[in-house]
Amino acid sequence: MMPGCVPWPPEDARRYRDEGLWCGETLGDMLRRSAREHGDRTAVVATTRLEHGSGEHGSGEHGGPRLVRCSYRELDERADRLAAGLRASGVRPGDRVLVQLPNSPELIELCFALFRTGAAPVLALPPHRHDEITHLAAHTGAVAYVVPDRHQGFDHRKLARRVRGAVPGLRQVIVCGEPEAFTALSGLYAPARDDVPGPRPEDVALFLLSGGTTGRSKLIPRTHDDYLCNLRLSAANARLDPGAVYLAALPIAHNYALGCPGVLGTLYAGGTVVLPATPSPDDAFPLIESERVTLTGLVPSLARLWTEAAAWSGHDLSSLRLVQVGGAAVGPDLARAVGERLGRVQQSFGMAEGLLSQSPPDDPPDLLATTQGRPLSTADEVRVVDEEGRDVPAGQTGELLVRGPYTIRGYYRAEEHNAAAFTPDGFFRSGDLARITPTGHLVICGRVKDVINRGGDKVPADEVEEHLLAHPLVRAAAVVAVPDPYLGERTCACIVPVTGPAGAADLGDPADPAHTADPAARAPSQRAIAEFMRERGVAAYKVPDRVEVVPSLPLTPVGKIDKARLRAGLARPGARHDGGEPA
Ligand code: AMP
Repeated sequence: MMPGCVPWPPEDARRYRDEGLWCGETLGDMLRRSAREHGDRTAVVATTRLEHGSGEHGSGEHGGPRLVRCSYRELDERADRLAAGLRASGVRPGDRVLVQLPNSPELIELCFALFRTGAAPVLALPPHRHDEITHLAAHTGAVAYVVPDRHQGFDHRKLARRVRGAVPGLRQVIVCGEPEAFTALSGLYAPARDDVPGPRPEDVALFLLSGGTTGRSKLIPRTHDDYLCNLRLSAANARLDPGAVYLAALPIAHNYALGCPGVLGTLYAGGTVVLPATPSPDDAFPLIESERVTLTGLVPSLARLWTEAAAWSGHDLSSLRLVQVGGAAVGPDLARAVGERLGRVQQSFGMAEGLLSQSPPDDPPDLLATTQGRPLSTADEVRVVDEEGRDVPAGQTGELLVRGPYTIRGYYRAEEHNAAAFTPDGFFRSGDLARITPTGHLVICGRVKDVINRGGDKVPADEVEEHLLAHPLVRAAAVVAVPDPYLGERTCACIVPVTGPAGAADLGDPADPAHTADPAARAPSQRAIAEFMRERGVAAYKVPDRVEVVPSLPLTPVGKIDKARLRAGLARPGARHDGGEPA
C-alpha cells in the first residue's frame, strides 16, 4: 500500500480473499469486463459533455434536452486513451490527482483513466473553494488538479491559479472546457497502449473525503479490492442487472452516488448511468421518463422535494423500481411517502470510511420505514459501545464501531488522528449513535461527533469555529445544529463579540457618535460573516445559516463549551440564545 496508508492486517486480508469478498480485480479491469460483456449497450447518458460547455444544451427530437450517449466500448476506449495521455503528461502510478468536476461523462472517464494508470483521484466536491482545495492538494501532494472551466457561474481557472501559487508540488492544472493557460483535458486523449502494467487490486484506487470529525477533511484511501467489495455488495442488495438504469442525482464525487451502488455499481452490473444537469425535478423527471430510470439515490431534503413534485409534475415515473434515501436522518413519514409516490424505498446509512447499511430487498414496509437497513456483509463486525468503550446490552443505544472488508483501518497521513478515530484492534469509531434491533437492523439515533449534517452536507463545527475566531470582532464562537424542516439541520454560529479594552482598538473610537457600548450592535452580521468566509475561500455550505450574538458561551463542569445547552436554548421558541453567563 501507498506510504501514509494503514493496511488491513495480513490475516484479515487473507480471510477476505478466501471468502471471495476481495476478488483480486481492479476497477479498471471491472470496466474492461463490462465492456467485453456489454460492448454496445449504453453505459452513460448525459445532458452534455463539459468540454462542450453549458451553451450546448440543445433540444432533442421530442423537445427534451439533446442527450450525449456513450456505449461501454466507447467508455472503455476513452478511458484507455485518457490514461495514455495522462501518463504522457507525467502522471505516474502512485500519484495523487485532485479532481473537482461536476457530474459529467468526463468525470467518469477520468476516474477510470486514473484507475488504470494506478494514480488515485482525490475526489473534491464541486462547492469546495480555495481553503479546502489548498488543504487537499498540499496534504495529498497532488501532482495535478482537474477542474471545469466554469461551473454554476464560478470560474474554476481563477481558483486553480491561486491554488497553484500556494501549492508548489502541483505540477499541472487540467481544464475540462476552455483551458486558457492550462492543459485541456480534451487534448490529453492519446493512442491507447496495452504494454503498461496496471495497479494491483490491493493498491489505493481513490481517495474520498471524510464528512469530518475534527479539523479539516481527512482523506480516506479506498483500495480496488475494498471499493469493489463495497459496490458489489450494494449492487447485489439492490438487485442490479444489465437492465438497471441509475440516475445520479447527487454528486458522483461523494461515496453515496459513486459506489453505493451508484455509478460504479451500475457499471459493474452492466446497467446504464444517467446524468441530469441538476437534481431538480425539472431536470431529473423528464430523464426518468425518457430513459426509463429504474433507481436513484437521494438525500432526505431532495426526497421530500421529489415526493411533492411527483404529485404535480405529470411525468411518468413508473419505471422507478428503487429509491434510496440516506446520507442524513430519514424519518418514517418521509420513507413512507417515498414508497407511496416515487418507488420502493431503500434506506441507506453509510460513510465514506466504509460501512454500508441498506434495507434488504425483502424488508416489510414497517422495517423499511423505521430502520436504516442492515450491514451489507456478514463480515461487517459492528459493535455498539458506551462512553467507556464497553459493549452496551443488546438493543441499547451507543456509539457505532465497525471493522470489516470495506471499512478502512486508518486515514491517509493522519497518525495522530487515527489513534483516536480507531480502536487499537482496528474498529472505526463512526461517531454515530445507533442501536441494533433483534432482526439485525440498525437504527441511527443521533451522533456524538461535532458535525452538523446539513441535508447530507457535513459541516465540521470546529472547522467553521476556526474561521469565525479569525474574524477581528469575534472573541469566542461555537457552531451548533438547529432543526430545519427542509434540510433536517442547519448551522447556527453563537458568537461572543470582542468587547472591552482588548477589543477597543478594533471597535473604533468610543467618542465617535457611531460607537455603541452594546456588543451585539458591533458584532459582525450573518452577511458580514458570510462575506468574511467567502474571502477566506470556504465552501458556501459551511457558512453559518444563522448567527446569534451571545454575551458568553456556557461551559460544562470540565470547562468545555456546553453545546447541548446552547442547542436547547436555541430550540426554545422565540429564544435568541440560552443566556450563558452575563458578559
Ligand atoms: P459521509 O462519509 O459523507 O457519507 O457521511 C457519513 C455520515 O453521514 C455518517 O457517519 C452519518 O453521520 C451520516 N449519515 C449517513 N447516512 C445516514 C442516515 N441514513 N441517517 C442518519 N445519518 C446518516
